[in-house]
Amino acid sequence: MPDVIIIGAGFSGLAAAARLMEKGCDDFIVLEARDRVGGRTKHGKLAGLEIDLGGMWLGPTQARLAALAQQFQVETYPTHLDGKSIFRLHGREHHGERERMDGLLTWWDKLSYLTASRKLDRLVAAIDCEQPWSHEQAAVLDAQTVEQWVMDNVRSERVRQLYRLLCFSILCAEADQISLLFFVNYLKSAGGLEILMSAETGGAQNFLFHGGVHQIARRMGEAIGARLHLDEPVTAIDWKGACATVHSQRGTYQASRVIVAVPPTLVPRIGFCPPLPQPKASLHARVAMGSAIKYWVAYDRPFWRDLGFNGSIVRDDAPCSPCFDVSPTGQPLGVIAGFFDGDHALRHGDSSANHRRNAVLSMLADHFGPAAMTPVDYVEADWTAEVWSGGCYGAYFPPGMFARHGSWLRQAVGPIVWAGTETSRHWTGYIEGAIQSGECAAEEVLSALSQATDAARNDPGLKERHA
Ligand code: FAD
Repeated sequence: MPDVIIIGAGFSGLAAAARLMEKGCDDFIVLEARDRVGGRTKHGKLAGLEIDLGGMWLGPTQARLAALAQQFQVETYPTHLDGKSIFRLHGREHHGERERMDGLLTWWDKLSYLTASRKLDRLVAAIDCEQPWSHEQAAVLDAQTVEQWVMDNVRSERVRQLYRLLCFSILCAEADQISLLFFVNYLKSAGGLEILMSAETGGAQNFLFHGGVHQIARRMGEAIGARLHLDEPVTAIDWKGACATVHSQRGTYQASRVIVAVPPTLVPRIGFCPPLPQPKASLHARVAMGSAIKYWVAYDRPFWRDLGFNGSIVRDDAPCSPCFDVSPTGQPLGVIAGFFDGDHALRHGDSSANHRRNAVLSMLADHFGPAAMTPVDYVEADWTAEVWSGGCYGAYFPPGMFARHGSWLRQAVGPIVWAGTETSRHWTGYIEGAIQSGECAAEEVLSALSQATDAARNDPGLKERHA
């Protein structure tokens, strides 16, 4: 019987396995539903380039992901920002150097933005990511949506649109769907809204990986060797005392501890016996996943740069914004990656790929001219249609759950310990959060195993009584 079973080989499950091995615990297996590792990161090909169809950017203070990139010698390059970004919001268009959107906003918009952002900053500052549900106003904040806060605190309609756009670009869900408490905790866990919306130095969209971040997941999977079981979805967990029996579609395994490293929205697909505590089960039943379709377009060269543009487009009147110039350095192709986010993803998910391709190329041609209509390649990934993700980039809480039951996100239940980016205190929703959560879960398991060993050593009868 292995000491530990890890369920899920996304970055969190892989990081848990790596930490166990690092600490000398080799007695574990990893059960993964897909035929590959990486979860919400995924390999793709575009005009001969290796690309990321899922998560792709590296931001500041993402020290664990940066360390893994260094360990596996995966080089990074910056998102291209030299030139003008295109903003179109509430009927006004502006072309601003790098990411500057000053000219987009009238003096009234600016005043409104400044006032609102100060209020938001104060809310963010008061959150303790260790236990956001303990904030003295937690229930009040959690009873509101982000949209309600926007309507109550933002006077300019253009700035309201800006907040809505930021909301669906960051969380792939609409402002009227998301709990305000969850939103401010999400911002705090990454260091604030300014960091999350930026591709500049210090911004979450600052760096990309040559050949893709998915390579790191693949190498971590290779290090696990035969202990990694692919194509093996877990269907049920029976748990009792310090033992769990895990049923997959291929077999049954027993272990002293289980790390569940799957998105919280997919936990209800696993049957638990006895059932999980009701607040935890209720949390898993009500948490929701964002929606996104990610696209990549390649041209024989980044011709928009000749026109003074940097390839970034942020619009509230196009379904496929934002997009960015993510051309890898040291090669000739011009490459743009962008998203159908939130409602746009859901509305366009049932259209043909050709229809979506036309929407993307038409938006690019609006600004960059007819050359944009003839790319050398186009690829996309609809994450809402991925059975073992059910959406992306991460989960979000609708009002009324996070304050009440959020603490159950990472609270162990018997021998079951929880991981996954959604359980992370830092960079929740991001690859960094996934890695940190997996490492934390492994530490929790190691500490429990060592306490159990000590207890058995001090009371030799204990082992038999627990068996
Ligand atoms: P997952 O990657 O979802 O891993 C969970 C694993 O569990 C999966 O492999 C799944 O197959 C498996 N599983 C599920 N159910 C079962 C079961 N019953 N039995 C066995 N296995 C199961 N993050 C960034 O940091 N930067 C970005 O630029 C970025 N952009 C993104 C863009 C897109 C389009 C997407 C999809 C995500 C993006 N993210 C980004 C988010 C990031 O990819 C995720 O936060 C991170 O990969 C989550 O890792 P995880 O291990 O927590 O979960």
